[in-house]
Amino acid sequence: MTAAGSGRTGSGQERRNGTGSGQKGAVCGQEEQSRTGCVRERQNIYMGQFHRKTDRDSRNRCEEITADGLPLLQFPALRQEDGIRHAFTTRAGGVSAGHLASLNLSFSRGDKETNVRENFRRVARFFGVPEERFVFSDQTHTANVRVVTEDDAGCGLTRPRSYADVDGLVTDVPELVLSIFTADCVPVYFYDPVRRAIGLSHSGWKGTAARIGAETVRLMREKYGTDPADLLCAIGPSICQDCYEVSADVADIFAAEFAGHEAELLIDKGNGKYQLDLWAANRIVLTEAGVKQAHISVTDICTCCNPDLLFSHRASHGMRGNMGAFLMLTR
Ligand SMILES: [Zn+2]
Repeated sequence: MTAAGSGRTGSGQERRNGTGSGQKGAVCGQEEQSRTGCVRERQNIYMGQFHRKTDRDSRNRCEEITADGLPLLQFPALRQEDGIRHAFTTRAGGVSAGHLASLNLSFSRGDKETNVRENFRRVARFFGVPEERFVFSDQTHTANVRVVTEDDAGCGLTRPRSYADVDGLVTDVPELVLSIFTADCVPVYFYDPVRRAIGLSHSGWKGTAARIGAETVRLMREKYGTDPADLLCAIGPSICQDCYEVSADVADIFAAEFAGHEAELLIDKGNGKYQLDLWAANRIVLTEAGVKQAHISVTDICTCCNPDLLFSHRASHGMRGNMGAFLMLTR
């Protein structure tokens, strides 16, 4: 309950940590240390130095912030919304060591439980709620989406989950922190400011091919009366097309599911291998589900291009922790 008494960490307490990849000297540890004097864990992590996909629309650029000492990524289009709080974590700002350094959010990848719990305490502080308000997915690469209610509070973090095989979460309950975990797979954020409902999905290649994004929209429409045209969505930091080589069987699945979009999604390398664009595929899933193109932010940061700053399954050959994508309705 350490976070409960700490109050909200509103935007007034946050500080921009550099203005982008071009800024030199935006060394998180040094900058923070000079101001607060107590960030030993992060000294070797350099924020402000993300490799970015520069062909992306500048409106969609992920912003780096440092909130209450914790470096995070946010989307400007979601950040400006008063009704929600969201974040994507990085490797920085935690207490885990070695290949799990430092903000590992997985209990099942060899970390000490005390480390992971401390890392979550820091994330909870940013959201201004106790850890009992987090609700985890149970990711198995399905397109299953769960309607989260008050009864699910704490599931996965402070008490066991009562459900399995859940790769997406939706809710209209304020101050429940929907939580999914990735290290190259695509997190997709959904916010309906009209009906006051949110969703968050884990969309790896299987989830993308199964259109979990569309299932999330469908469930929000069914449960909350969401009009897809009202939704604000964000496709979060994950593996880019340049880094994501797939075999012909996966390429065939996408060519069939996204007929007419093959040229947009797949680059044939001519050796039986293809480069797959999961960001574009998820954007197509969302637009075909009725989300307006102008309401979709797409990350310009790839996990695999930034293995020192973000956990990447591919870049680390599986020796990695998990990052978290989090979304909460405010009261
Ligand atoms: Zn990349």
